[in-house]
Amino acid sequence: MSDLENWGEDDEDDSNYVLPAEIENGHLTSNTEGDSADSSDDENPSPTNTGEFDTDLPTAHKYLGKLNSVSGYTLYDDGEVVDLLAVYTTTMVFPGFTLPLVINSYEESIMQNFTDQKSIFVLLCANSTFDGIYNYGVTMQIYESEMRNYFVNIKAKGRQRCKLVPGREIKNLSERLKQVTVRVIAESPISSPLCDTQMLTLKQRRRFTSSKFSDILQDYKYRRYHFTQYPFPFWVYDKYEISYYVKLIHEGMADYHGEYIPKDPLQLSYWFVQNYQLSHDERLHILKLNSTLERLRLEYKFLKLERTINCNNCGILLTDPSKVFAMSKDGIQSNYVNPGGHVYETVTVISAKNFLLDGNPSRQFSWFPGYAWTVMHCKICSNHLGWKFTSDVLRPKAFYGLAKNSFKVIIHKKPSSDHDHDHDLWRCERNTFTNDYIHL
Ligand SMILES: [Zn+2]
Repeated sequence: MSDLENWGEDDEDDSNYVLPAEIENGHLTSNTEGDSADSSDDENPSPTNTGEFDTDLPTAHKYLGKLNSVSGYTLYDDGEVVDLLAVYTTTMVFPGFTLPLVINSYEESIMQNFTDQKSIFVLLCANSTFDGIYNYGVTMQIYESEMRNYFVNIKAKGRQRCKLVPGREIKNLSERLKQVTVRVIAESPISSPLCDTQMLTLKQRRRFTSSKFSDILQDYKYRRYHFTQYPFPFWVYDKYEISYYVKLIHEGMADYHGEYIPKDPLQLSYWFVQNYQLSHDERLHILKLNSTLERLRLEYKFLKLERTINCNNCGILLTDPSKVFAMSKDGIQSNYVNPGGHVYETVTVISAKNFLLDGNPSRQFSWFPGYAWTVMHCKICSNHLGWKFTSDVLRPKAFYGLAKNSFKVIIHKKPSSDHDHDHDLWRCERNTFTNDYIHL
């Protein structure tokens, strides 16, 4: 564990920090260290009248202070090969999601000098065994940035998936900055398997190829009539309808905040992998897949696996996915950055066990405005787990932010499916994906 990972541990005294005042203060007042949360003097916690936490606040990353907008929107063509600066972290951000980053002035000078295209970089992450760089990454667009006293605060948004071009040199520019050549990967559009089997004049009338599976079910008997001319049983074709998996994933995540779960298939495919508790290896596999349909199919399979969240070091049970909840509009799992620039992928859970708290609550640099944080350690092995967030005025009164690299997701058994087709789906793909799981 580096010092960066335990940045809250020795936070008895604010003067330990050497950060610029703007970052120190962020959205918080400077005189509340160690106090229990009292948001009356806070400029941004904005509890609603009911005391509910405003879920817009964490995604705004206001603890970084106010940043300047960076203009530009870069999209590359499908297959375009580009030389780009890469930032290497242990976590991955999928297209549409935000990465906050604090870089030092040395890294900033490298970024500035590297290319004319200053607002785009590639985010690369570790491979499944954490001993190398994974071949796939995501292009990131910087949309806000500001330099303050030798640190640059950046917010960037994921744009497109890309892949390292084999054989091209990866040049180390600093510890986490590299120069790489990538090929941009565009989304493959996938339509209903029936789409091209109908006469154009009839397409408008036939809702059994609708983008909503509930519409398909309404006209299901016509769909079955139509299938009599093809060799496979009717249900095989359902398995290639994107809307089928959208429906199943929404049903499978009924316990989560439904209003935050996207209905658009593409967005859903990235939202799921960004938010559901998957192992690092599972996430890497999804990053590799080229179409929304492939991603949703695999995600549905992952959703059916029974899993728990355990200490990464000693393996003791911490919580399970049913305790996970959304504290931000970005979802359950978001990226935050500490004053040292270390990016944490943090998962919010409503309850946890087998941990000890360390020190007093502090509100400095809090990722959740209005909440004070206390460092959590594993009860058994003292591994740093994350932070407990508490507030006297906001609801929920307490929750836990588990750092993604402090826990592992353990998969206990294959899905207990009474549905033969789903079982087939599992069986045909398991050889590819189960070897890297931790089976009990
Ligand atoms: Zn432990």
